[in-house]
Amino acid sequence: PSPFDVEAIRADFPILDRKVGGDPESPGEGPGDDTPLVYLDNAATSHTPDPVVDAIADYYRGYNANVHRGIHQLSQEASVAYEEAHDTVADFIGAAGREEIVFTKNTTEAVNLVAYAWGLAELGPEDNVVLSKMEHHASLVTWQQIGKRTGADVRFIDVTDEGRLDMDDAAALIDDDTAMVSVVHVSNTLGTINPIGDLADLAHDHGALIFVDGAQSVPNRPVDVDDLGVDFLAFSSHKMLGPTGIGALYGREEILDGMQPYLYGGDMIRRVTFEDSTWEDLPWKFEAGTPSIAQGIAFAVAIEYLEDIGLDRVEAHEDLLAEYAYDELEAVGGVEIYGPPGDDRGGLVAFNVEGVHAHDLSSILNDYGIAIRAGDHCTQPLHDEMGVAASARASFYVYNTVEEIDALVEAVGEARDLFA
Ligand code: PMP
Repeated sequence: PSPFDVEAIRADFPILDRKVGGDPESPGEGPGDDTPLVYLDNAATSHTPDPVVDAIADYYRGYNANVHRGIHQLSQEASVAYEEAHDTVADFIGAAGREEIVFTKNTTEAVNLVAYAWGLAELGPEDNVVLSKMEHHASLVTWQQIGKRTGADVRFIDVTDEGRLDMDDAAALIDDDTAMVSVVHVSNTLGTINPIGDLADLAHDHGALIFVDGAQSVPNRPVDVDDLGVDFLAFSSHKMLGPTGIGALYGREEILDGMQPYLYGGDMIRRVTFEDSTWEDLPWKFEAGTPSIAQGIAFAVAIEYLEDIGLDRVEAHEDLLAEYAYDELEAVGGVEIYGPPGDDRGGLVAFNVEGVHAHDLSSILNDYGIAIRAGDHCTQPLHDEMGVAASARASFYVYNTVEEIDALVEAVGEARDLFA
């Protein structure tokens, strides 16, 4: 059983009561409104509970104002709430304080911030950057292109047949010329939970920094930057019950301090003359222009909601659903599942059904009201390695139930029979 009352959680998410889907008897006829929604696309984006929606509405109804620059009361209220949201995020991941938390648009922008502000300044043809073959395009494309601009060699740690990082390969690739190791914590395709502490040690032993893509780990399990020993960590609010348009970059203070700004403009300066400018303190040096104020405030409310459940319990709930889904999908027959075994993965399962294209599967499941993802999940090179162009992916969160996985498994079985 789940370690918390899932039905009580579901009551905070009105969208889960929606009816969708078409008629399984006449498949492919498009959207309908008579089937209960089974939402299993949480790795793409999660839903937003009432307290988070209320926080956005409260801001616009009650104290909408620009931050940092106003003396008037509304601006002060907005500034305090927006700034304190940074403290909430800092506490959540064990950072020292708000100076180590830069609000970005999302994980993608956080990677780009480091790649441009740190990478363009620090990397040259003598350096290398070590990624893994299971990186999301957010990291892969960004470092690949920064590599082209700086001449740095971009290397990829191999993935074993079981879908784990080949740590011997990691030890061979990370050398004294490595400047940055950039790895995903939990793979959004394989579900693999990577040994970040070991990779951080390897990186630091060679004088390199480590950047961790936490888009699929921070929402789902306790993550502490000190325990992991990482220099940077990026994650997105919309994958952890918060709104879109906001995410966070954690960076160790002395590293952020030494970096030039990524974006220039208002809000990030201290003194400007026609000749030159000086920068605001951290983190504001990296938050140019009017930020996503309501989203930042609501992001903190989403984190408080997760903390109320308890991240240990969120993790236990996801482990339960992932293992159950893995075992049940395997039992269907004709289903190939990618990545490590069910009892050792994050809360998602990517798979293919023999003879059924992932997109067809997804469209059939939609007739049953079941929302999953089909495609390459922004890991095209990894799919090349897997030998398939696309896969189906079911991903779980705090409001999902064992019964919803039963519905998925039954529909997958029907789809397989349909194409047999
Ligand atoms: N990294 C991983 C592992 C992800 O799963 C995602 C989202 N699919 C991202 C990065 C990018 O997140 P965003 O689109 O919010 O920038």
